[in-house]
Amino acid sequence: MSPANRVRMEISEAAVLANIASVRRLVDPATVLMGVVKADAYGHGLVSFSRLLVRHGVEQLAVAHAEEAFRLRDAGIDAPVLVLNHAPTADLPGLLRAGIRQAVYGEAQARAVSRAARALGCPARIHVKVDTGLSRFGFSSGNLAPLARIAALDNVVVEGFHTHLASAEEDVADRQLSLFDDACRRATGLLGYRPTRHALASAAIAAGLHGRAPLEMVRPGILLCGLPPSYTASDVPGDAGRFQPVLSMTSRIEQIRSVAAGTRIGYGAAHVTSAPATIAIVPVGFADGLPRALADSGRVIVARRYAPIVGPVGMGHLTLDVTGIPGVSTGDEVVLLGSDGHRRLGIQDWAAAAGTINTDVLVRLASAAPRVVRPLSEVIEQECYV
Ligand SMILES: *Cc1c(COP(=O)(O)O)cnc(C)c1O
Repeated sequence: MSPANRVRMEISEAAVLANIASVRRLVDPATVLMGVVKADAYGHGLVSFSRLLVRHGVEQLAVAHAEEAFRLRDAGIDAPVLVLNHAPTADLPGLLRAGIRQAVYGEAQARAVSRAARALGCPARIHVKVDTGLSRFGFSSGNLAPLARIAALDNVVVEGFHTHLASAEEDVADRQLSLFDDACRRATGLLGYRPTRHALASAAIAAGLHGRAPLEMVRPGILLCGLPPSYTASDVPGDAGRFQPVLSMTSRIEQIRSVAAGTRIGYGAAHVTSAPATIAIVPVGFADGLPRALADSGRVIVARRYAPIVGPVGMGHLTLDVTGIPGVSTGDEVVLLGSDGHRRLGIQDWAAAAGTINTDVLVRLASAAPRVVRPLSEVIEQECYV
């Protein structure tokens, strides 16, 4: 088996396209989409995933850190990019030269941005962040005096004005959105123009809050991956059927063995077969991001049938019980995430087994394998063929 197909991580262009369209259906037609691609695009591969977003009309991107913004520019992606976290001063000249926007939530930070921009003789486009109840980064929405001082700094252009919600639950979101609405009005007064306003991430978009707060831009992340947001009133994003998981993960069977009843399987020898069994070994493990909690409880798909994981999840191996699945042989594909026929396995199953949220599992898949894009053309061909 070549190392290239030990594990294959694929992102589906068709699913990305469907998810963008589904987000668009949940917001007013003129709304600008800022795709949030932090944490390697939630484990989907920063550059590949961002390229697909931009190709299919997502106007802007947001990342957590300066280095992610540089990776986008190095890959030739020239859409507007916002850095959500405070960038180190040393990175400011590079960011400004590349036209990358900076979220600003402190006056000292704003002065550093202004100094760097003046030295380069270029504008610094910033998005001022106000805290309306998440109690993390941001100027207090009750006191916008710093905004007037920031707007007066050399070379600084206040392009955006934004907040982040702690929850899409009605009472929390309503309170935050009214505080934001009020802050936006005062900001517009102070600036003499209305900056681009944005507040809603996936949970709030899925909950239909854009009707309540029809701001110019929204910041979806997890919904573009076709997965349900975590901090939401319901588990189901808007119209669930229209969102499609983008990422799939497959491997291949490395070895098949027949074992007798009473055989102990794996480290710890805790799993004992109750009958003669056919065991398949797959070269993927927790070093690739699989939750160890899938031990003796998770399953995969082999030959369009579910096969249970037996014994522990090893660092680099997984053991399956394929007894009763006819014709399984070495080299056969194993679907860890994705679908085969009518069977489907999602990151939600892993997150539930591990007692955590989907993004926590996704970001651990980072190093498993390079992400490969399944282009739209292949899907269309397949559909014609079937
Ligand atoms: C992560 C993040 C988002 C996107 O969140 P999702 O729930 O994935 O849509 C939007 N805005 C900010 C400030 C974020 O940190």
